[in-house]
Amino acid sequence: MTTPATMPALFVGHGNPMNAIEETVYSAAWRDIVASIPKPKAILCISAHWETEGTFITSMSQPKTIHDFYGFPDELYQVQYPAPGSPELAARLHEMVSSTAVRLDDGYSWGLDHGAWSVLRRMYPDADIPTVQLSLDRTQHARFHYDLGSELKALRKEGVLIVGSGNIVHNLRMLQWDAREPYAWAAEFDRQAAEMILTGEHDRLVAYQALGEAARLSIPTNEHYLPLLYVLALQQPGESVSFFAKGMPLGSISMRSVRIG
Ligand code: ZN
Repeated sequence: MTTPATMPALFVGHGNPMNAIEETVYSAAWRDIVASIPKPKAILCISAHWETEGTFITSMSQPKTIHDFYGFPDELYQVQYPAPGSPELAARLHEMVSSTAVRLDDGYSWGLDHGAWSVLRRMYPDADIPTVQLSLDRTQHARFHYDLGSELKALRKEGVLIVGSGNIVHNLRMLQWDAREPYAWAAEFDRQAAEMILTGEHDRLVAYQALGEAARLSIPTNEHYLPLLYVLALQQPGESVSFFAKGMPLGSISMRSVRIG
C-alpha cells in the first residue's frame, strides 16, 4: 500500500445527528469526499462533543459508541460504529505535543461520540480504520486550540486523516425546525468565515470574538467552532483549501465543510 506524502485534513459540519442514518445532501457529500482520499492508516477526530478540563486522547483498543443526544428515534440509538482504537497513535500524540500535556483516556470516560461516528460511518462504513478522538480543553482560549492543531502537522505525513467535526455557525437556542432560510446574521457570518478560510486569514478567525454581532450570534459557545481551528492550523503555506459541503438548515446551523490539501 502506498501512502501519499501528505494526507488532506477535513473539517466537517455535522449538524443534526440524523445525518448518520438519513440520506441527505450532507451525508452524500461525506461519503463522496473520501473517494478522492487515499485510505488512511488511522483517523484522528476532534469533535465538538468532547469537552474536558485538560486535553485528552482516547487510547483504548476498542472505543465504545457513545449516543450523546436526547429525543431522537430508537434507530439512531441502535447505531454502533465499532472502529478499533489506536493505542499507538494515542501514545504518539502524547509524545509529540509539547504545548500541553495530552492525557490518555483508556475508556473510562469516552469512546467515539456522535460528532465522530455520525460522520465517519458515512465516510468509512466498514469501520475498519483505527480511530482516536482528541478532546477540547474547555479552559483554554481559541489561540491555544489553533496552536495545538499546528503541532499535529506531522501526522498528515504518516497516513493519518485528521477530521475536525463541528459547525461554523451553531446556535441551538435560535434553531427553527421549519426554517426555509437561514437567519441573516447566520448567512453573513458563514460567508465571512468562508472568505477568511479561502484567503488564509486565520488570525482573524482565531480572534472571532472581534468579528462583531454576526459572529457573536453564530458562536454563542465555541465548542462547535474550535474543531475548525484545529484543521485550519494544519494548512501548509500555499496549500489548497476548498469546501465539499455547504448549506444552512434549521436557520442557525452552517454545514460548510472544509478540505485542506
Ligand atoms: Zn454537534
